[in-house]
Amino acid sequence: MKNKFLKIISLFFFGVFISFLQPFTVLGARITDVRLWSAPDHTRIVIDLTEPIQYEVSSQENPPQFHLELKGVSLHTAKKEMDVKDPFITKISLTELGKDKVKLVLHQKRALNANAFILKPYQDKPNRLVIDLIDVVQEKKEIEERQKQKEIKPKGTKIVVIDPGHGGEDPGAIGPKKTMEKDIVLKVGEKLVHLLNQNTGTQAFLTRKGDYFIPLEERIKIAREYGADLFVSLHTDGSFNPQARGSSIYCLSLSGATDEAAKILADKENTSNILGGAFLRPAAFAKDPNLNQILLDLMQNNSMKESFRFAENLLEDLKTVNSLKYSSYRQANFIVLKAPDIPSALVEMAFITNMEDERLLNRNDFQEKIAKTLNATIKKYFGP
Ligand SMILES: [Zn+2]
Repeated sequence: MKNKFLKIISLFFFGVFISFLQPFTVLGARITDVRLWSAPDHTRIVIDLTEPIQYEVSSQENPPQFHLELKGVSLHTAKKEMDVKDPFITKISLTELGKDKVKLVLHQKRALNANAFILKPYQDKPNRLVIDLIDVVQEKKEIEERQKQKEIKPKGTKIVVIDPGHGGEDPGAIGPKKTMEKDIVLKVGEKLVHLLNQNTGTQAFLTRKGDYFIPLEERIKIAREYGADLFVSLHTDGSFNPQARGSSIYCLSLSGATDEAAKILADKENTSNILGGAFLRPAAFAKDPNLNQILLDLMQNNSMKESFRFAENLLEDLKTVNSLKYSSYRQANFIVLKAPDIPSALVEMAFITNMEDERLLNRNDFQEKIAKTLNATIKKYFGP
Protein backbone atom coordinates (compact mmCIF):
# COMPACT_ATOMS: atom_id res chain seq x y z
CA MET A 1 0.00 0.00 0.00
CA LYS A 2 2.78 2.35 1.06
CA ASN A 3 4.79 1.42 -2.04
CA LYS A 4 1.86 2.02 -4.32
CA PHE A 5 1.33 5.42 -2.75
CA LEU A 6 5.00 6.32 -3.26
CA LYS A 7 4.79 5.16 -6.84
CA ILE A 8 1.78 7.42 -7.48
CA ILE A 9 3.49 10.33 -5.73
CA SER A 10 6.69 9.83 -7.72
CA LEU A 11 4.75 9.49 -10.97
CA PHE A 12 2.94 12.69 -10.07
CA PHE A 13 6.21 14.52 -9.46
CA PHE A 14 7.70 13.04 -12.61
CA GLY A 15 4.71 14.45 -14.49
CA VAL A 16 5.16 17.87 -12.89
CA PHE A 17 8.87 17.71 -13.70
CA ILE A 18 8.15 16.93 -17.35
CA SER A 19 5.62 19.72 -17.67
CA PHE A 20 8.05 22.17 -16.05
CA LEU A 21 10.74 21.03 -18.43
CA GLN A 22 8.58 21.39 -21.52
CA PRO A 23 8.58 25.20 -21.80
CA PHE A 24 12.36 25.33 -21.61
CA THR A 25 12.98 22.64 -24.17
CA VAL A 26 10.20 23.40 -26.63
CA LEU A 27 9.82 27.17 -26.33
CA GLY A 28 12.60 29.78 -25.92
CA ALA A 29 12.69 33.15 -27.61
CA ARG A 30 12.22 33.62 -31.32
CA ILE A 31 13.39 36.61 -33.33
CA THR A 32 10.34 37.95 -35.15
CA ASP A 33 11.73 41.09 -36.79
CA VAL A 34 14.92 43.07 -37.30
CA ARG A 35 14.62 46.79 -38.03
CA LEU A 36 17.15 49.48 -38.71
CA TRP A 37 16.92 53.26 -38.33
CA SER A 38 19.65 55.50 -39.73
CA ALA A 39 20.33 58.89 -38.10
CA PRO A 40 23.11 61.30 -39.14
CA ASP A 41 25.33 60.30 -36.19
CA HIS A 42 24.14 56.79 -35.32
CA THR A 43 22.33 53.72 -36.53
CA ARG A 44 19.83 51.91 -34.36
CA ILE A 45 19.18 48.19 -34.82
CA VAL A 46 16.06 46.81 -33.15
CA ILE A 47 15.39 43.11 -32.72
CA ASP A 48 11.88 41.96 -31.80
CA LEU A 49 11.78 38.92 -29.52
CA THR A 50 8.95 36.70 -28.32
CA GLU A 51 10.52 36.41 -24.85
CA PRO A 52 13.11 38.27 -22.78
CA ILE A 53 16.68 37.06 -23.33
CA GLN A 54 20.20 37.35 -21.94
CA TYR A 55 23.09 38.57 -24.05
CA GLU A 56 26.80 39.24 -23.98
CA VAL A 57 28.57 41.85 -26.06
CA SER A 58 32.04 42.05 -27.55
CA SER A 59 33.63 43.94 -30.39
CA GLN A 60 36.28 43.35 -32.97
CA GLU A 61 38.62 45.95 -34.44
CA ASN A 62 39.70 44.52 -37.74
CA PRO A 63 37.42 44.37 -39.63
CA PRO A 64 35.27 46.51 -37.28
CA GLN A 65 32.38 44.44 -35.98
CA PHE A 66 30.05 44.42 -33.01
CA HIS A 67 29.15 40.97 -31.64
CA LEU A 68 26.27 39.89 -29.45
CA GLU A 69 25.83 36.39 -28.14
CA LEU A 70 22.11 35.95 -27.55
CA LYS A 71 21.13 33.26 -25.04
CA GLY A 72 17.79 31.48 -24.90
CA VAL A 73 17.12 32.15 -28.58
CA SER A 74 16.80 29.75 -31.46
CA LEU A 75 17.06 30.66 -35.11
CA HIS A 76 15.56 27.52 -36.76
CA THR A 77 18.12 27.91 -39.53
CA ALA A 78 21.92 27.74 -39.48
CA LYS A 79 22.56 31.29 -40.68
CA LYS A 80 20.75 34.43 -41.78
CA GLU A 81 22.41 37.38 -43.46
CA MET A 82 20.93 40.74 -44.34
CA ASP A 83 22.71 43.28 -46.53
CA VAL A 84 21.71 46.76 -45.46
CA LYS A 85 21.90 50.25 -46.95
CA ASP A 86 23.14 52.43 -44.15
CA PRO A 87 25.89 55.02 -43.56
CA PHE A 88 27.53 52.98 -40.80
CA ILE A 89 26.94 49.27 -41.36
CA THR A 90 26.90 46.96 -44.39
CA LYS A 91 25.48 43.72 -43.09
CA ILE A 92 23.68 42.07 -40.18
CA SER A 93 24.28 38.37 -39.70
CA LEU A 94 22.74 35.83 -37.35
CA THR A 95 24.37 32.44 -36.81
CA GLU A 96 23.10 29.57 -34.67
CA LEU A 97 25.70 28.57 -32.06
CA GLY A 98 24.44 25.23 -30.84
CA LYS A 99 21.35 24.96 -28.71
CA ASP A 100 19.46 28.14 -27.77
CA LYS A 101 22.36 30.40 -28.66
CA VAL A 102 22.60 32.80 -31.57
CA LYS A 103 25.45 35.07 -32.57
CA LEU A 104 24.54 38.45 -33.99
CA VAL A 105 27.25 40.31 -35.90
CA LEU A 106 26.95 43.91 -37.06
CA HIS A 107 29.44 44.55 -39.86
CA GLN A 108 30.60 48.16 -39.54
CA LYS A 109 32.10 50.47 -42.15
CA ARG A 110 34.35 52.02 -39.49
CA ALA A 111 34.98 52.01 -35.75
CA LEU A 112 31.84 52.97 -33.80
CA ASN A 113 30.74 53.15 -30.17
CA ALA A 114 28.10 50.58 -29.33
CA ASN A 115 25.36 50.65 -26.76
CA ALA A 116 22.99 47.70 -26.33
CA PHE A 117 19.93 47.60 -24.09
CA ILE A 118 16.61 45.80 -23.66
CA LEU A 119 13.19 47.39 -23.88
CA LYS A 120 10.34 45.61 -22.10
CA PRO A 121 7.01 45.03 -23.89
CA TYR A 122 4.96 48.21 -24.03
CA GLN A 123 1.56 48.67 -25.68
CA ASP A 124 1.79 46.66 -28.93
CA LYS A 125 5.61 46.49 -28.84
CA PRO A 126 7.21 43.16 -27.84
CA ASN A 127 10.49 42.58 -25.96
CA ARG A 128 13.08 44.47 -27.93
CA LEU A 129 16.85 44.31 -28.02
CA VAL A 130 18.20 47.68 -29.16
CA ILE A 131 21.73 48.36 -30.34
CA ASP A 132 22.86 51.90 -31.06
CA LEU A 133 26.06 52.21 -33.07
CA ILE A 134 27.28 55.75 -32.58
CA ASP A 135 29.81 57.67 -34.62
CA VAL A 136 31.17 59.92 -31.88
CA VAL A 137 33.20 62.03 -34.33
CA GLN A 138 30.08 62.74 -36.38
CA GLU A 139 28.05 63.33 -33.21
CA LYS A 140 30.54 66.00 -32.08
CA LYS A 141 30.59 67.54 -35.56
CA GLU A 142 26.77 67.79 -35.59
CA ILE A 143 26.80 69.57 -32.21
CA GLU A 144 29.52 72.00 -33.33
CA GLU A 145 27.69 72.65 -36.58
CA ARG A 146 24.54 73.54 -34.61
CA GLN A 147 26.40 75.73 -32.12
CA LYS A 148 28.01 77.66 -34.98
CA GLN A 149 24.66 78.83 -36.38
CA LYS A 150 23.97 81.55 -33.81
CA GLU A 151 27.42 83.03 -34.44
CA ILE A 152 27.24 83.09 -38.23
CA LYS A 153 23.61 84.22 -38.61
CA PRO A 154 23.03 87.71 -40.03
CA LYS A 155 22.33 90.32 -37.33
CA GLY A 156 18.68 90.44 -36.29
CA THR A 157 17.88 87.01 -37.72
CA LYS A 158 15.69 84.81 -35.54
CA ILE A 159 16.38 81.09 -35.29
CA VAL A 160 13.39 78.74 -35.33
CA VAL A 161 13.71 75.04 -34.54
CA ILE A 162 10.95 72.85 -35.92
CA ASP A 163 10.49 69.50 -34.23
CA PRO A 164 8.70 66.78 -36.20
CA GLY A 165 7.36 64.56 -33.39
CA HIS A 166 8.04 60.81 -32.98
CA GLY A 167 10.16 58.90 -35.57
CA GLY A 168 11.87 55.52 -35.86
CA GLU A 169 10.42 52.99 -33.42
CA ASP A 170 7.73 55.47 -32.40
CA PRO A 171 5.24 55.96 -35.26
CA GLY A 172 2.97 58.31 -33.26
CA ALA A 173 -0.76 58.09 -33.97
CA ILE A 174 -1.84 55.89 -36.88
CA GLY A 175 -4.79 56.62 -39.22
CA PRO A 176 -7.45 54.20 -40.49
CA LYS A 177 -5.51 53.98 -43.79
CA LYS A 178 -2.29 53.33 -41.80
CA THR A 179 -0.87 56.82 -42.32
CA MET A 180 1.72 57.42 -39.62
CA GLU A 181 2.00 60.63 -37.66
CA LYS A 182 5.83 60.51 -37.83
CA ASP A 183 5.77 60.69 -41.66
CA ILE A 184 3.24 63.52 -41.97
CA VAL A 185 4.91 65.75 -39.37
CA LEU A 186 8.29 65.31 -41.09
CA LYS A 187 6.81 66.35 -44.46
CA VAL A 188 5.12 69.45 -42.99
CA GLY A 189 8.30 70.23 -41.02
CA GLU A 190 10.45 70.13 -44.17
CA LYS A 191 8.02 72.41 -46.01
CA LEU A 192 7.91 74.84 -43.10
CA VAL A 193 11.71 75.00 -42.74
CA HIS A 194 11.98 75.66 -46.48
CA LEU A 195 9.53 78.59 -46.22
CA LEU A 196 11.17 80.02 -43.09
CA ASN A 197 14.56 79.95 -44.79
CA GLN A 198 13.20 82.01 -47.68
CA ASN A 199 12.30 84.88 -45.32
CA THR A 200 14.95 87.49 -44.64
CA GLY A 201 14.38 87.54 -40.89
CA THR A 202 14.23 83.85 -40.01
CA GLN A 203 16.48 80.83 -40.24
CA ALA A 204 15.09 77.39 -39.47
CA PHE A 205 16.34 73.92 -38.62
CA LEU A 206 14.75 70.54 -37.97
CA THR A 207 15.41 68.45 -34.86
CA ARG A 208 15.21 65.29 -37.00
CA LYS A 209 15.80 65.04 -40.72
CA GLY A 210 14.68 61.47 -41.30
CA ASP A 211 12.90 58.47 -39.87
CA TYR A 212 14.74 57.94 -36.60
CA PHE A 213 13.92 58.58 -32.97
CA ILE A 214 15.28 61.39 -30.81
CA PRO A 215 14.47 61.39 -27.07
CA LEU A 216 12.31 64.35 -26.02
CA GLU A 217 15.05 65.88 -23.85
CA GLU A 218 17.50 65.64 -26.76
CA ARG A 219 15.14 67.68 -28.92
CA ILE A 220 15.36 70.53 -26.39
CA LYS A 221 19.13 70.16 -26.28
CA ILE A 222 19.28 70.45 -30.07
CA ALA A 223 17.12 73.61 -29.99
CA ARG A 224 19.39 75.14 -27.33
CA GLU A 225 22.52 74.29 -29.32
CA TYR A 226 21.05 76.19 -32.27
CA GLY A 227 20.28 79.09 -29.93
CA ALA A 228 16.62 78.90 -30.95
CA ASP A 229 14.36 81.92 -30.48
CA LEU A 230 11.28 79.73 -30.97
CA PHE A 231 10.60 75.99 -30.84
CA VAL A 232 7.58 74.41 -32.52
CA SER A 233 6.82 70.71 -32.12
CA LEU A 234 4.60 69.27 -34.86
CA HIS A 235 2.08 66.48 -34.23
CA THR A 236 -1.15 64.97 -35.47
CA ASP A 237 -3.78 64.02 -32.90
CA GLY A 238 -5.22 60.55 -32.32
CA SER A 239 -8.44 59.41 -30.66
CA PHE A 240 -10.48 56.25 -30.09
CA ASN A 241 -13.40 58.35 -31.28
CA PRO A 242 -13.17 58.35 -35.09
CA GLN A 243 -15.39 61.45 -35.22
CA ALA A 244 -12.88 63.64 -33.32
CA ARG A 245 -11.45 66.32 -35.62
CA GLY A 246 -9.74 69.69 -35.65
CA SER A 247 -6.48 71.45 -34.79
CA SER A 248 -5.28 72.41 -31.32
CA ILE A 249 -2.31 74.20 -29.75
CA TYR A 250 -0.57 73.36 -26.49
CA CYS A 251 1.86 75.16 -24.21
CA LEU A 252 3.74 74.02 -21.14
CA SER A 253 2.18 74.10 -17.69
CA LEU A 254 4.36 73.84 -14.60
CA SER A 255 1.40 73.37 -12.28
CA GLY A 256 -0.91 70.72 -13.68
CA ALA A 257 -2.93 70.65 -16.87
CA THR A 258 -5.73 73.07 -17.80
CA ASP A 259 -8.09 70.11 -18.24
CA GLU A 260 -8.15 66.32 -18.18
CA ALA A 261 -7.97 65.99 -21.98
CA ALA A 262 -4.79 68.10 -22.09
CA LYS A 263 -3.25 65.96 -19.34
CA ILE A 264 -4.08 62.75 -21.22
CA LEU A 265 -2.60 64.18 -24.41
CA ALA A 266 0.62 65.26 -22.65
CA ASP A 267 0.94 61.81 -21.04
CA LYS A 268 0.47 60.22 -24.46
CA GLU A 269 3.02 62.48 -26.17
CA ASN A 270 5.45 61.89 -23.29
CA THR A 271 5.30 58.08 -23.78
CA SER A 272 7.15 58.76 -27.03
CA ASN A 273 10.33 58.20 -25.00
CA ILE A 274 9.20 54.68 -24.02
CA LEU A 275 7.94 53.71 -27.47
CA GLY A 276 10.87 55.24 -29.31
CA GLY A 277 13.36 53.70 -26.85
CA ALA A 278 14.99 56.75 -25.29
CA PHE A 279 18.48 56.13 -24.09
CA LEU A 280 19.75 59.40 -22.76
CA ARG A 281 23.44 60.07 -22.94
CA PRO A 282 24.69 61.61 -19.68
CA ALA A 283 24.98 65.08 -21.30
CA ALA A 284 21.19 65.30 -21.60
CA PHE A 285 20.81 65.03 -17.80
CA ALA A 286 23.62 67.33 -16.78
CA LYS A 287 22.58 70.64 -15.25
CA ASP A 288 24.33 73.71 -16.48
CA PRO A 289 26.33 74.89 -13.40
CA ASN A 290 26.30 78.46 -14.74
CA LEU A 291 22.54 78.78 -14.45
CA ASN A 292 21.07 79.71 -11.10
CA GLN A 293 17.51 78.76 -10.15
CA ILE A 294 16.15 82.32 -9.80
CA LEU A 295 17.44 83.24 -13.23
CA LEU A 296 16.05 79.99 -14.60
CA ASP A 297 12.58 80.70 -13.18
CA LEU A 298 12.63 84.21 -14.64
CA MET A 299 13.61 82.84 -18.02
CA GLN A 300 10.94 80.13 -17.85
CA ASN A 301 8.25 82.69 -16.95
CA ASN A 302 9.22 84.92 -19.81
CA SER A 303 9.43 81.99 -22.29
CA MET A 304 5.99 80.81 -21.24
CA LYS A 305 4.48 84.27 -21.67
CA GLU A 306 5.98 84.44 -25.14
CA SER A 307 4.73 80.91 -25.91
CA PHE A 308 1.17 82.00 -25.03
CA ARG A 309 1.46 85.01 -27.33
CA PHE A 310 2.65 82.76 -30.16
CA ALA A 311 -0.11 80.20 -29.47
CA GLU A 312 -2.82 82.90 -29.55
CA ASN A 313 -1.51 84.23 -32.86
CA LEU A 314 -1.36 80.73 -34.31
CA LEU A 315 -4.93 79.86 -33.30
CA GLU A 316 -6.18 82.99 -35.09
CA ASP A 317 -4.37 81.96 -38.28
CA LEU A 318 -5.02 78.21 -38.10
CA LYS A 319 -8.79 78.57 -38.03
CA THR A 320 -8.65 79.73 -41.65
CA VAL A 321 -7.12 76.33 -42.62
CA ASN A 322 -8.87 73.81 -40.39
CA SER A 323 -11.59 73.71 -37.77
CA LEU A 324 -10.28 74.23 -34.24
CA LYS A 325 -10.79 71.61 -31.57
CA TYR A 326 -10.53 74.35 -28.91
CA SER A 327 -10.70 78.09 -29.48
CA SER A 328 -7.92 78.73 -26.92
CA TYR A 329 -4.56 77.06 -26.30
CA ARG A 330 -4.38 74.37 -23.64
CA GLN A 331 -1.59 73.72 -21.15
CA ALA A 332 -0.05 70.54 -19.74
CA ASN A 333 3.26 69.04 -18.71
CA PHE A 334 4.80 68.24 -22.12
CA ILE A 335 8.45 67.19 -21.72
CA VAL A 336 9.36 68.53 -25.15
CA LEU A 337 8.17 72.07 -24.25
CA LYS A 338 10.38 72.37 -21.17
CA ALA A 339 13.25 74.49 -22.50
CA PRO A 340 13.45 77.26 -19.86
CA ASP A 341 14.86 79.83 -22.26
CA ILE A 342 12.99 79.12 -25.52
CA PRO A 343 9.33 79.98 -26.19
CA SER A 344 7.84 76.62 -27.21
CA ALA A 345 4.51 75.38 -28.53
CA LEU A 346 3.10 72.05 -29.66
CA VAL A 347 0.75 71.94 -32.64
CA GLU A 348 -1.72 69.11 -33.20
CA MET A 349 -2.42 69.81 -36.88
CA ALA A 350 -5.47 67.55 -37.27
CA PHE A 351 -6.77 64.13 -36.20
CA ILE A 352 -5.02 61.39 -38.16
CA THR A 353 -7.57 58.93 -36.70
CA ASN A 354 -10.43 60.72 -38.48
CA MET A 355 -10.96 59.55 -42.06
CA GLU A 356 -11.41 63.03 -43.52
CA ASP A 357 -8.51 64.57 -41.54
CA GLU A 358 -6.27 61.64 -42.55
CA ARG A 359 -7.13 62.24 -46.20
CA LEU A 360 -6.30 65.95 -45.79
CA LEU A 361 -3.05 65.28 -43.92
CA ASN A 362 -1.88 63.09 -46.80
CA ARG A 363 -2.56 65.82 -49.36
CA ASN A 364 0.37 67.92 -50.47
CA ASP A 365 -1.78 71.07 -50.73
CA PHE A 366 -3.04 70.69 -47.14
CA GLN A 367 0.52 70.16 -45.86
CA GLU A 368 1.55 73.30 -47.81
CA LYS A 369 -1.34 75.26 -46.29
CA ILE A 370 -0.40 74.30 -42.74
CA ALA A 371 3.26 75.15 -43.40
CA LYS A 372 2.35 78.53 -44.97
CA THR A 373 0.09 79.37 -42.02
CA LEU A 374 2.79 78.50 -39.51
CA ASN A 375 5.32 80.52 -41.50
CA ALA A 376 2.99 83.56 -41.53
CA THR A 377 2.34 83.31 -37.77
CA ILE A 378 6.05 82.94 -37.00
CA LYS A 379 6.86 86.03 -39.10
CA LYS A 380 4.11 87.97 -37.33
CA TYR A 381 5.30 86.73 -33.93
CA PHE A 382 8.78 88.14 -34.44
CA GLY A 383 7.26 91.42 -35.64
CA PRO A 384 8.26 93.65 -38.52
ZN1 LIG B 1 2.39 63.18 -31.42
